[in-house]
Amino acid sequence: MDKRDWLKISESEWEAICDRCGKCCLMTLEDEDSGDMYHTNILCRYYDIENRLCTVYEKRCTLVPNCLKLTPENVDKLPFMPKTCAYRKLFDAAYKQQPLKSIKGRAVSESEVQFADLEDHIVDWEDL
Ligand code: SF4
Ligand code: SF4
Repeated sequence: MDKRDWLKISESEWEAICDRCGKCCLMTLEDEDSGDMYHTNILCRYYDIENRLCTVYEKRCTLVPNCLKLTPENVDKLPFMPKTCAYRKLFDAAYKQQPLKSIKGRAVSESEVQFADLEDHIVDWEDL
């Protein structure tokens, strides 16, 4: 899909592209010295993994300051988005063939994790 076409679609069409995989709701850690980013299997406390949805969607950017609103304007400028993200597959042919694999059974809620243990949750999943 050409980016010029994305800019013409309605908000509801844009929202419908998301397959609600929840991978963008997994926490990332940043090394303060090197700036390197690490993915973890820790899910935002507001993500409902059973029903695959954000429970605070309308207020998400207020309640979680680093929760970013994806738009047609910024979606191709976010290299940390998962390879299997439905939006990323739209604009990047290299990711089109990435199979969708659920995070259920692989992720844990941040409400169940001790902050001292965060580094133990760093993962190297092929689909992130
Ligand atoms: S607030 Fe919602 S959309 Fe944002 S990271 Fe948490 S679960 Fe995901
Ligand atoms: S990674 Fe992409 S497809 Fe998955 S929930 Fe986030 S925005 Fe939707």
